[in-house]
Amino acid sequence: MAYVITSPCIDEQAADCLDSCPVDCIEKGEDQYLIDPSICIDCGACEAVCPVDAIFYEEDVPEEEESFIAKAKAYFDA
Ligand code: SF4
Repeated sequence: MAYVITSPCIDEQAADCLDSCPVDCIEKGEDQYLIDPSICIDCGACEAVCPVDAIFYEEDVPEEEESFIAKAKAYFDA
């Protein structure tokens, strides 16, 4: 399990999450920031600082945003 960044990030890309992550597992992708699910320690710090509420614990990602779980996995597996 990991936290996941969803669609509101695409228009915002505020990057507040970057400085909040204690294990430095958030990277800037092509159109949004992404969390490396193999490194994330589920601390929730990034969720708290996101100004557009784009970040969810994997189990709590809204149904219409579930593709972002696979998007992050694919980005870091590549
Ligand atoms: Fe980093 Fe914690 Fe967010 Fe995971 S939940 S990406 S470890 S700040």
